[in-house]
Amino acid sequence: MARRKLVAGNWKMNKTPSEAVALIEELKPLVKSDDVDVVFCVPAIDIPAAVEAVKGTNIAIGGENMYFEDKGAYTGEVSADMLLDAGAKYVIIGHSERREYFAETDITVNKKVLKAFEKGLRPIICCGESLEQREQGITIDWIRQQIKIAFLNVTADQAKRAVIAYEPIWAIGTGKTATSDQAEEVCGAIRACIRELYGEAVADQIIIQYGGSVNAGNAAELFAKSDIDGGLVGGASLKADFGKIVNYK
Ligand code: PEP
Repeated sequence: MARRKLVAGNWKMNKTPSEAVALIEELKPLVKSDDVDVVFCVPAIDIPAAVEAVKGTNIAIGGENMYFEDKGAYTGEVSADMLLDAGAKYVIIGHSERREYFAETDITVNKKVLKAFEKGLRPIICCGESLEQREQGITIDWIRQQIKIAFLNVTADQAKRAVIAYEPIWAIGTGKTATSDQAEEVCGAIRACIRELYGEAVADQIIIQYGGSVNAGNAAELFAKSDIDGGLVGGASLKADFGKIVNYK
């Protein structure tokens, strides 16, 4: 089955609401595409302005994180309903920076994934190994464990709509990209894991991205691989380069 490519930008903690609008105005004409889906995942405070700015374009807006409870005494957190009501369609869950600096675990990732699906947000679920794990030769085992826990109690119908981002931690923001063969090997293993959990139809439909120093120069080679359905892009999503990544062909 031919899957559509999905290229998502992760803006991280960059851009105020007014800066977000200015960047969207700059990128809008550059990210037009008939065959690639485009998402800008922006800081929660930027979402209303970003949603307004992308009206009438092919760009969808996503959050970078959410909490797994519906509401209540969770100071500083943002709920799925808040993201949805503001106009977000996607949400990044379990980014390695959230795992490292904000103590997210595979268990909280699973809770967030379940809540995102319950509410109708499309989760972009991140997984990835450290350099140490790669050198120990345990990358595939580690990723399979992350995926199996992230998808606990997720139904096949929900899983079809999931996006998985394979992001080797050693390649994020470092300028070191996994080779296209390394990225394809792990994305293929993730698809095989989804096949074991849900069968062929879900494995065929699920979107699996690569992330980690994707740029205008390496996107074409990475995205040409059969199990890589696009990318989650950090640094280069804040520049005109993002247009070249979307239009990588
Ligand atoms: C990311 O933040 O998900 C990411 C992949 O960052 P970068 O592209 O800057 O490595």
